[in-house]
Order: sequence, then C-alpha cells, then structure tokens
Amino acid sequence: MTLLSSSSMKVGRLTVYFSNVKTALSKTGLPDLDYALNPYAGCSFGCIYCYARLYTSDRRASKKWGEVVVVKSNIVKVLEREVEKLPRGVVGLGTITDGYQTVESIFKLARKSLELLFNREFHVSIQTKSPMVLRDLDILAAKRENVDVGFTITTLKDEIAKLIEPHAPPPLARLRALKSLSKAGVRTWVFYGPIIPGFNDDAETMKNIALLSAETGATLYYDPLRVKPFMLSTDYPLRKEALKARSRWWLARIEAAIKRLCVDYGLECRRGFEATPLT
Ligand code: SF4
Repeated sequence: MTLLSSSSMKVGRLTVYFSNVKTALSKTGLPDLDYALNPYAGCSFGCIYCYARLYTSDRRASKKWGEVVVVKSNIVKVLEREVEKLPRGVVGLGTITDGYQTVESIFKLARKSLELLFNREFHVSIQTKSPMVLRDLDILAAKRENVDVGFTITTLKDEIAKLIEPHAPPPLARLRALKSLSKAGVRTWVFYGPIIPGFNDDAETMKNIALLSAETGATLYYDPLRVKPFMLSTDYPLRKEALKARSRWWLARIEAAIKRLCVDYGLECRRGFEATPLT
C-alpha cells in the first residue's frame, strides 16, 4: 500500500480513490432484489466481459476498468441511517462490483454492511467470485435464513479463466468456497455466465458446472453473453465471439443443452437477469 495523496493510494497494481456517497441502498429493477448495495465503484477483478462498467457512474473507475477502484468511505455511516428508515427487503450486495474484491480485505465495507443489514433483519443476496466471503462465514452461518450467496463460475479451466477474468480468484478457489458455504448450511447458487462461444460453451464445462450445482444443492443461473456495443469495436478481444453470441442458432443450442442437464441432474435452473439498471 502506498499513499499517493490524501484522496488516493496504490494497492498493488490498483489505484484506489475515496469518495463520499449520499445514499447507500438504491432501488433496483433486478428480479428478486429490492435494493442494491455496492460498497465500491469499479472492480479489481477486471473481467474483460464485465458490463458493470456501463452502469458505474464514477468515470475514473468505468474508464480504467479493473485498474481503478473507488472506496465509498462513508457508506457504512449512511447505511446505518437508512436501515432505520427504509422498509425491510432483499439487498443485492455487489450488483455492479464485487463486494469481496481485493480492497475489501483492507476496508471491510462488505462485512460492516452485512452486520448492519442483518441487525435490522434485511435479507442479503451476495454475488461474488471471491473466497474472501468465507472470512464472514461466522455471520453468514449465524444468519443463514437471511442470506444467500452466489458464486459466478464461468469455467473450471484455469487457462480460460485467466483469459476472461484476469485478476479474479481461480475457479478452484471459488468452487471450494461454494462447497464450504453449502456445508455450513448457507443457501448457495451458481451463476454460469456469461457463456461465451468457444470459451465456456462446451459440453464438458456445462456438465461440470451442472454437477457442481447439484452437489452443493445450488440453484443454477445461466446467462449467455449479452452483447453490448463496446464488444463490437474492432479492438475488443472477444469481438468474434460477441458476433457469434448474437446468433439465434447458438442461443437456442445453449438453452437446449442447459435445460437437458437441469432435467438430468434435477436442478433448479433459471435464466440470468439483464443487468439494467444494476443499481
Ligand atoms: S467480478 Fe463481476 S463486477 Fe468485477 S469485473 Fe468481474 S464481472 Fe465485473
């Protein structure tokens, strides 16, 4: 950690800024969620397909996706006031950021937010790629009826994950964390998305992810790549794949294959949600 100024610092390759927010919980149009809570703007995991950059209002983070993270310094204080006033509901923790990204180990905003939300009987739905969520297993297990945790698992192959999610924890670490949570009685789900032609749409990957969901009792969400304009620019590394993902034939093939697996393994399967507006 290196302090750059009173309002920024370096954490490894990341530039970290600090900001103050007026609200912590925002209304969301996402299914099954009443509120979204994003303690950080930007995400150090820097997935190359990430749509969240489109919904991140802090331009420092959205422009240099994966290189800049903004810590919402006062979010816990703001949340403390809001939980007293707002109607109870389901809070999505990490809808346009990963609440358990690298800087969470320093600032612990996700953990402090969870404590406040649980104290006021809100239900929290966490989506992450990070085994750091296990740090909070004590409160998650204690409040298991008020929480569910979803792991995004796009592939179980390291070499593919490194290409599309260059700074995210490896698939095996996510898989182990998912199993630990499930073993501790926390309701879990797997988010298999985005499914990208030629990267993670093969039969072996689908089967392994379905098996993992079955083994952990997790609901399986699947989400074929949603093609956004930035994916069609000539210098976007997955442009060819993005073009293919628009084909109806490909989408129908993916949908049919997953539905078959869900029947075979007796899984509850749901199509992923459109990420607009994420917060
Ligand atoms: S972990 Fe999620 S929020 Fe972070 S870069 Fe990847 S897709 Fe985006």
